[in-house]
Amino acid sequence: MSPDVALDLEVAAVVAVAVLIVALAAAASGACRRHGTDDDVERALGDATLVAYARTAVEARERQRCCVFCQSEYAKAPDELVRVVPACGHFFHAGCDADRWIRTRRTCPLCRGALWPRTEASGDGAAVVVAVP
Ligand SMILES: [Zn+2]
Ligand SMILES: [Zn+2]
Repeated sequence: MSPDVALDLEVAAVVAVAVLIVALAAAASGACRRHGTDDDVERALGDATLVAYARTAVEARERQRCCVFCQSEYAKAPDELVRVVPACGHFFHAGCDADRWIRTRRTCPLCRGALWPRTEASGDGAAVVVAVP
């Protein structure tokens, strides 16, 4: 192998490693991207999203008969509180782990979507609207 060919191979290898590092860094930053701000999380965990089961939308209730955390059916009692995710309308028992999930992952525990509709993300204190599809 001539020195020129060896040098070419060496340069090619260095370029390949550099491309690999850039690709890995891009993938890692995408995977670790956080959804929403601290404020979005606090608003999602506020009193406005804690509602009685009976006050959730009928369509949402028909789609969700069980809490994904405890797998039990909703009791449908008037005082049964559920945490509603504003963006998608999914809800979970207030006593189950939805709040912890929302705080750490900043997504809906069921569909993994954002907590707030796009227009409300990082809002400036506008009225909280619990949107239910
Ligand atoms: Zn539950
Ligand atoms: Zn959802």
